[in-house]
Amino acid sequence: MIIGIPKEIKPQERRVAAVPAMVHDLVEAGHRLLVQAGAGEGAGIINAQFEAAGAELVEDAGSVWAAAELVVKVKEPLAQEYPLIRPGQVVFTYFHLAASRPLTDAMLASGAHCFAYETLTVDGRLPLLAPMSEVAGRMAVQAGAFYLEAHNGGRGLLLGGVPGVLPAKVLVLGGGSVGTEAAKMAAGLGANVVVMDIDLDRLRHLADILPANVTTLASTRHALRELLPAADLVIGAVLVSGGRAPVLIRRADLALMQDDGPVLVDVAIDQGGCFETSRPTTHAEPTYVVDGVVHYCVANIPGAVPRTATFALTNATKPYVELLAELLADGGVGAAAAHPALGTAANVLAGELTHAGVAEAFGLSW
Ligand code: NAD
Repeated sequence: MIIGIPKEIKPQERRVAAVPAMVHDLVEAGHRLLVQAGAGEGAGIINAQFEAAGAELVEDAGSVWAAAELVVKVKEPLAQEYPLIRPGQVVFTYFHLAASRPLTDAMLASGAHCFAYETLTVDGRLPLLAPMSEVAGRMAVQAGAFYLEAHNGGRGLLLGGVPGVLPAKVLVLGGGSVGTEAAKMAAGLGANVVVMDIDLDRLRHLADILPANVTTLASTRHALRELLPAADLVIGAVLVSGGRAPVLIRRADLALMQDDGPVLVDVAIDQGGCFETSRPTTHAEPTYVVDGVVHYCVANIPGAVPRTATFALTNATKPYVELLAELLADGGVGAAAAHPALGTAANVLAGELTHAGVAEAFGLSW
């Protein structure tokens, strides 16, 4: 199987879909790896490292797409890549098709087979989304700590306090992948942390595994409003699978908070955000202030740490890339689509929608 790794072209996207360890094992399994020159630069991986692992370097993206039977990427194809996609080609990447009708139409028209990281499901979990949530959860605390500093617009608090001075109060809304890592990081820095979730079994689990400076609380609107006046940092990490994030903090609720720079970090902004006053921001301009409350709403938080995020992503994708390549080589796309895990990633097969969630998003049949 010829596997292509093009350089990502989305603005500010520095991750790459393969690392030398993945290349090495795929080449050992008998595949040819075509890596676009410079594809790994943003993640700190130089061409020579890919070559040493067995990859063949290709100068331009067009040549990668033209030769590869399977293209492995990070982000969805952009308009300038659409003409490069060939009928029958397999593309494995984050697609988020439900968020874009033009992209969905382009993929249907391409005749390619689209396998999406974000819908790949194993035992009800989304193993290819989890690593980016883990990165974002940890980053959320770093960002929150930074913006709590006075010169960054915050209240001038050190998250962990110091001996003789109380730590800051951190409220984490949602105790899933993002929330767990956020709680861990905030606790590790010595903050006083409360995690709220509507899933009591999840809270039981978190109460077991997290240190004593993390307490859990069943999430209700009443309980949240009681905690807001004392909160220094609130991290929004809720997810309703397949749906828009629920709005947990309304504009009027901001009046309950201090107005001298507490910080809201809305990690759920990519699903619409869980604070009414949230709007997507970028790493170039991550924050804005509403009613004295600093808002950090960056939609692609892992983009700030492409080295860590590349290795976190490829740790998770590697076994599925290997499996996909093997099944494609042995039995074609039918074998891949019939696999229990990879089948859940199949969103488009030869011009047909094959994922209920995507079809429902556009009222299309499948
Ligand atoms: P997850 O499914 O692992 O966890 C979500 C948790 O929210 C679950 O435990 C669920 O019970 C809880 N929840 C749902 N409704 C709630 C409510 N009303 N009150 C309290 N808790 C509630 O999801 P995750 O992987 O942790 O992702 C969380 C969010 O972060 C998602 O929107 C995801 O898209 C987003 N995310 C954003 C970025 C970014 O760069 N901004 C990166 C990764 C993930």
